[in-house]
Amino acid sequence: MRLVLVGPPGAGKGTQAERMAERLDVPHISTGDLFRANLGQETPLGVEAKKYMDAGELVPDEVTVGMVRERLAEPDAVKGFILDGFPRTAPQAEALTGILTDQGRELDAVVEFAVADEVVVQRLLGRGRSDDTEDVIRRRQQVYRDDTAPLLEFYADRIVSVDAVGSVEEITARVFDALGR
Ligand code: AMP
Repeated sequence: MRLVLVGPPGAGKGTQAERMAERLDVPHISTGDLFRANLGQETPLGVEAKKYMDAGELVPDEVTVGMVRERLAEPDAVKGFILDGFPRTAPQAEALTGILTDQGRELDAVVEFAVADEVVVQRLLGRGRSDDTEDVIRRRQQVYRDDTAPLLEFYADRIVSVDAVGSVEEITARVFDALGR
């Protein structure tokens, strides 16, 4: 299956993506994780991305799309993928459509993780990542509302919405139910 997960920061996409990837036997592709891996290895891409990540801003589309294009060209992504944290802007969504069209493929579904802002701020403050200070969290939420939430409209024909408040197991069950799996 080819899936995209959309939801505000702290909605639990990463946790669910891992569980879904295991069950569906497809790679979990998280742009945040890819950026953090580059950052850890101090690659030029990582050094570039860090400025934006530390501020809760989005890494420029050209950089992000190039990285995803390369990742999706790897052999393990042929059988499908769970994209977590990408696309986050309209140009990224259009680029993804282009990448998939070139391969003669399309997305099966876009899973929306629905959760209120107040719930996610508390979750994120408990996570302890370096970009999880309250100011940066609030900025990431604003960026989500401004740049990413409009994608729900763009993908209206394939959105599967899931209530993302509950236990990890409950939410996984809801996702597979909603996907009819
Ligand atoms: P995440 O792990 O998904 O919360 O992403 C952490 C940070 O990485 C974000 O706040 C952005 O700075 C950057 N990032 C991750 N995915 C993207 C994306 N698709 N476009 C731009 N920046 C991204």
